[in-house]
Amino acid sequence: MSGNDLTRDDLKALVRAIPDFPKPGIQFRDITTLLADPAGLKAVIGELAAIARPVDADFVAGIEARGFILGAALAVALGTGFVPIRKAGKLPGKTVGVDYVLEYGTDRLEMHDGQVPMGARVVLVDDLIATGGTALAAGQLLREQGAEVAMALFAINLPALGGMKALAADGLPTFALMDFDGH
Ligand code: AMP
Repeated sequence: MSGNDLTRDDLKALVRAIPDFPKPGIQFRDITTLLADPAGLKAVIGELAAIARPVDADFVAGIEARGFILGAALAVALGTGFVPIRKAGKLPGKTVGVDYVLEYGTDRLEMHDGQVPMGARVVLVDDLIATGGTALAAGQLLREQGAEVAMALFAINLPALGGMKALAADGLPTFALMDFDGH
């Protein structure tokens, strides 16, 4: 459909698994190997763009940090602007933020206040969805700014952790290119 030569299995083979990073028991799905492959990078952006194009978005919002890489390339492919959603304390202008609960403790995401106009249609992007906590928080932040989060897009889904179901329950149409087993 997207005119790319690589299959989803080819893309999966380009993602490297690093055991026990950043802590024991986590199988880190490393997309740097996919990003470094010219055909892989082109295919992943082409596939994401094919899914997002019908939404006719005004902006792509990417979640720090790997969501910036995919999100900025996707924004260029779609002809939209790009908005970064960052960890606390990184953005220079006036920010709005949302605190969210992690397995241990809490974290905070921020964006520039007023960067997305009221009613703007936004596609939210990150490299991977696990529990969905990060994407739910980013979606809440965008909605509090008056944006319509039309779609959430990920390169990778970890179905065992239920994140896509959590986003669907929050009314967010959600798509991912690749499923991987485990955590
Ligand atoms: P979650 O909020 O549980 O959906 O976690 C998603 C966020 O954590 C994304 O920003 C991912 O980049 C990162 N993440 C969670 N689990 C993994 C994993 N197994 N491999 C790589 N990144 C992960």
